[in-house]
Amino acid sequence: MKTVLNVGSVYMNAYLIEIKGSWLLVDTGYPFDYKHFLKTVKKHRIELSSIRYVVLTHVHADHAGFLKKILEDTGATLICLPAEKERLLSGVNEKNVWISRKAFFLINRISAATPRLQTFEPIDISGSLDAETQPLAEEGITFFVLHGHTDNDLCLKVDDKLFIGDICMNGAGATGFSPLWIEDNEKLVESWKQLLSMDGDFLYTGHGKPFPKTALTNYVDKQAKRKLCKLFK
Ligand SMILES: [Zn+2]
Repeated sequence: MKTVLNVGSVYMNAYLIEIKGSWLLVDTGYPFDYKHFLKTVKKHRIELSSIRYVVLTHVHADHAGFLKKILEDTGATLICLPAEKERLLSGVNEKNVWISRKAFFLINRISAATPRLQTFEPIDISGSLDAETQPLAEEGITFFVLHGHTDNDLCLKVDDKLFIGDICMNGAGATGFSPLWIEDNEKLVESWKQLLSMDGDFLYTGHGKPFPKTALTNYVDKQAKRKLCKLFK
């Protein structure tokens, strides 16, 4: 089993996965989380230069926030989806989304109007590895793509763990494992079904604690019927 460390903030998870004495980082944090990240990594006595790869699960500012900075400071190679090229270059979250908790509508509108929560330094993906070519197959790490939270959500299978970004979550105020922002709920529900049918027992999400995959089973239908509202009409 590979060592996995959570090096995220109180709000979100970023994971370091050990591969032969070096590390793969899954997601970063908001741009302003970088100092906290550096402190956490230091606490674990991990040299920044030992981070060899960075994977981005999806293009949102709370995950891509200091991606550019960490790539520069470590010399690590980015693993991503070429399909995300435009979004990564835009440096801003897609806001054509549905909100899964009506009670959070106002707070989401405020967040959507707050640049520090919605923007990140644009990333140029030249020199990155295409996740779909399975660049870490020899290390026993497989990539797969789900859809619905964003257009493309890049996921990884490592031992019995599935790192799935925000395809579902049990933190950040989520109910019934639903992500707060959804671009396509039908695709999201299909992604949940795919997760349940594939190998891997534990879900490691972007927000909240890891949990057994089977916990999702009773929520698939509920998610399909969930009443959503548009962030912007
Ligand atoms: Zn997130």
